[in-house]
Amino acid sequence: MGSNANVTDRVWDVVVAGGGHAGVEAALAAARLGCATLLVTLDPQAIGRMSCNPAIGGLAKGHMVREIDALGGEMGLAADQTGLQFKMLNTSKGRAVWSPRAQIDKRAYARHLLTTVSNQPGLTVRKGEVIGVRVRHGRLWGVLLREAGRLRTRTAILTCGTFLNGLIHIGDQKFRAGRMGERRSEGITESLQALGFAAGRLKTGTCPRLHRDSIDWDRTTRLPGDERPVPFSFRTPQPFQPPDEPSYQTHTRPAVHDIIRANLHRSPLFTGEIAGVGPRYCPSIEDKVVRFAHRNEHPIYLEPEWHDAQQIYVNGFSTSLPEDAQQEALKHIPGLEQARFIRPGYAIEYDFIPPRQLQATLESKDIAGLYLAGQVNGTSGYEEAAGQGLLAGINAAAQVQERPALVLGRDEAYLGVMVDDLITKDSAEPYRMLTSRAEYRLLLRPDDADLRLSHHGTERGLLTPQDSRRLEARRRNVARFKELAAALKITPDNSGTDGQWATIPPQGATLARLLKRPEFTLHRLAPLLPTGALEDLPESDRFTAETDLKYEGYAARQQAAAAALARLEHTPLDPQFDVGAIVALRAEAREKLLVVRPQTLGQASRIAGVNPPDIALLAIHLKRWHVSRETSP
Ligand code: FAD
Repeated sequence: MGSNANVTDRVWDVVVAGGGHAGVEAALAAARLGCATLLVTLDPQAIGRMSCNPAIGGLAKGHMVREIDALGGEMGLAADQTGLQFKMLNTSKGRAVWSPRAQIDKRAYARHLLTTVSNQPGLTVRKGEVIGVRVRHGRLWGVLLREAGRLRTRTAILTCGTFLNGLIHIGDQKFRAGRMGERRSEGITESLQALGFAAGRLKTGTCPRLHRDSIDWDRTTRLPGDERPVPFSFRTPQPFQPPDEPSYQTHTRPAVHDIIRANLHRSPLFTGEIAGVGPRYCPSIEDKVVRFAHRNEHPIYLEPEWHDAQQIYVNGFSTSLPEDAQQEALKHIPGLEQARFIRPGYAIEYDFIPPRQLQATLESKDIAGLYLAGQVNGTSGYEEAAGQGLLAGINAAAQVQERPALVLGRDEAYLGVMVDDLITKDSAEPYRMLTSRAEYRLLLRPDDADLRLSHHGTERGLLTPQDSRRLEARRRNVARFKELAAALKITPDNSGTDGQWATIPPQGATLARLLKRPEFTLHRLAPLLPTGALEDLPESDRFTAETDLKYEGYAARQQAAAAALARLEHTPLDPQFDVGAIVALRAEAREKLLVVRPQTLGQASRIAGVNPPDIALLAIHLKRWHVSRETSP
């Protein structure tokens, strides 16, 4: 770790402020791409710390972990090595929305990231607090450290999470912190505001932690992991045999809800004490009881925070009620009658910088070289943060090295959907990824994220030649499966089979054709396959090939839809083109366009309040503007 002298005596390529999930990916990516990178963080021992739930992945988030992995990020590898239990969620739905999730040993996870960061050549870690940025002529010039003063850098990535002017609430108790037990950071918001940035306030909350031996486990339901766990990373060696430590389920009851209702006047969320908006898709128990007043119970999951942990996370019970009310309510949950607190739940309010002020590269629209990533951009969740961190790290490095930036399309990755939503939607509430946000879901499956995106990781140099060879073998296997499936004709003998093959034509059909039918899977058709056919191919490759065949027609339609929009999508809106001067434009559309300042017609089309006729008008005026520029002397 660097001393004051050696960190301030040079010009860095990339300085990353914050060692959370965004900061770690940003710093590793920039250093791996050959940039002289400095990671400044309040507490290096807290690098990669999971502030809240001990889990990685989940609905849509699991997709993003796979995408991060395909681009050469660290999150998937770290989760595979420190997972306590792996499960594929959503398997009752179509395969495009199956989502991998793992319970994680939080301590081992943070240790893994700290070790990876510490051993990364080209990356220096420095304990400290960034309190502002320095700008000259519209370009970032350096950052200001509380302890060491000015520091020169070509680019900076701010990844301050929930720490900017953080304020914790537990009932009517309030105290300044970045999260429990860690000091907050001050100065960056004010420094950015002085440069003209808008800032806002959001809130999030976490659940109480209980002593394992105070829980009556017999009154809960044991939840094991999958029998055949699937890793996040395509780089994790096979066979993958992680532990399978169970979590447990219980539920709230009307008595719990009564206590919460009776104490709402003591919850800062309801007294108006907390001004920040909370995450709609991760509501507090107070929110759930009020918003879903008709429900008699809500599920509660009891999750170990690390291997053999005494500390149990009460997933589903995020709260800012006073400690006594939390304790009283928990006592009415089956299994928690005698539960003792290690620490209560709490809510935290923090500053965020609305991401409409960023380009699709996550660089500021106004200050060249300044990037923001993670919770500071108004997102919620480790995976959202890590994905942005990785992209910001790649793009800061690209700027330093004068290479093209990496911007992923909405039809290419959930990461692309997220960044596009962030910069165009101008949402006032914490953003978390959902599969429903992606209009081209069938093109963004989790199982083929590596095949879909790894060319970026390879071209940039974040994946090794060994990774590329592994991917090539996988690609060949998938192609071979498809060839075999197209050639392999299946003619069932329907006698004595209860008619289970009745829908297969008597003259037979190829395996490829049958797999397109919803009622058939490779697993179901196995009794009809010749012995040994396809079995030499790894299961993950068979699964991807089978899924490709199943969705072929639908995916082609989504590809065609994306291609039809591509022209609009990529038509640039020159910053000189004055939207304010288009008199015929509706006032609301004009106002939104002036606030968000989209960079393409595609981005403009997704801004709430900008309608298709507005886009048509914009396109006409843009064309005229280009013609008049070309013809003017
Ligand atoms: P963080 O993980 O917060 O990391 C920020 C890092 O920046 C820290 O290392 C900090 O020390 C450092 N830092 C901050 N300011 C400075 C500075 N000025 N100079 C140097 N270093 C600095 N997510 C969910 O998905 N679901 C939830 O239910 C949920 N609940 C949460 C509840 C709480 C109480 C908290 C605190 C977070 C919760 N989260 C939840 C959010 C999740 O923790 C974050 O989304 C994720 O950690 C964000 O990652 P990040 O890298 O942006 O920031």
